[in-house]
Amino acid sequence: PKILVSGANGFIGTWIVRVLLKRGYSVRAAVRNEAKGKPLLEAYRSYGDKLQLWVVGDIGKDGAFDEAVQGVDGIIHAASPINVTVAEPKEIIQPAVKGVVGMLTSAFKHGSSVQRIVFTSSCAAILPLSVESVTVSEMNWNEASIIECDEKGKDASRLSKYSASKTLAEKAAWDFYEKHKSEVNWDISVINPPWVFGPVIHDVTTVDTLNSSCKRWYDALAKGDFGGYSPLTSPGHGWADVRDVAEAHVRALEVPAAGSERIIICAGSFVWQDWLDVANSMSPYPWPSNTLAIGTPGAIQRAITFDTSKEKEILGIKFKTMEELTRDTLADYERRGW
Ligand code: NDP
Repeated sequence: PKILVSGANGFIGTWIVRVLLKRGYSVRAAVRNEAKGKPLLEAYRSYGDKLQLWVVGDIGKDGAFDEAVQGVDGIIHAASPINVTVAEPKEIIQPAVKGVVGMLTSAFKHGSSVQRIVFTSSCAAILPLSVESVTVSEMNWNEASIIECDEKGKDASRLSKYSASKTLAEKAAWDFYEKHKSEVNWDISVINPPWVFGPVIHDVTTVDTLNSSCKRWYDALAKGDFGGYSPLTSPGHGWADVRDVAEAHVRALEVPAAGSERIIICAGSFVWQDWLDVANSMSPYPWPSNTLAIGTPGAIQRAITFDTSKEKEILGIKFKTMEELTRDTLADYERRGW
């Protein structure tokens, strides 16, 4: 089978491409331009014509995926603006919404062979960052970030603008599907990861060009930079290893019961101090060319817990531990000389 992957050159997208190729799928990797796709082609040269590059330009453009969807059996839509600085919330909301609705519209019009579309949403579409101790599930929606953007406009926080873009994009995907499901041969499945960390295999040469979640993890461990908050309480959210997140996308394509479901993919809750404690307790010292931050070991406060029973029931991934993620990621940084 042939799978179209958008955002194929990104942090999560490149891992998805790898899992698909290893499983024997053919992959059509959709990228913004030729240059963005070149490193991907080079990295997977050994797969020959099983990996095909497809230039789609900006995903917010009408009909961006009209040709890309033709002749594929499944689609994983991972592209969405994430590390962008915008003034007005609509500058990030519009491309996110238009990206997914555009993909679904192209599949509706031209994707007669498509059977399933997996969409990368986020736990940012489940709830905003919270310091309160709450348990949330797929029943929850982050309305608060939408309201903040409506009320404050350009003064809304950067995170709220991104969170609103993910919430509104996912809502638009479900609305489109509900409206057209009797007219199409495919269904949709939505993956909601929290903070995704882990080794990078996409085209990154310097620490400063890391994708946003990995850069935050690096800054916490290497610099003790927690964005101005206490490592004992911040960010009080969930985490997942990028390799498990990629696996979840592929299982969501394959497992019939994943259809018409949004599924939280979360290995556990964390504050930055958790990673510092794990890394500092490792032996041998996991990052020989660097000094690990110590933080302020002490009474960690838990905030958000994600109910992951749906994932266990439908996808059943055995999640990597904090130790595995930390060891492999620091080994990756060590190899890169960071
Ligand atoms: P990256 O920034 O590494 O990847 C984002 C991808 O989307 C890139 O391929 C990028 O292409 C593409 N993209 C973004 N905007 C556009 C656009 N306007 N036109 C064309 N392509 C575009 O981030 P991640 O891999 O971390 O994110 C992938 C997905 O996972 C996103 O949907 C994100 O919201 C979601 N997610 C990420 C989490 C995390 O912690 N990392 C957590 C939860 C969800 P280009 O390189 O050309 O800009």
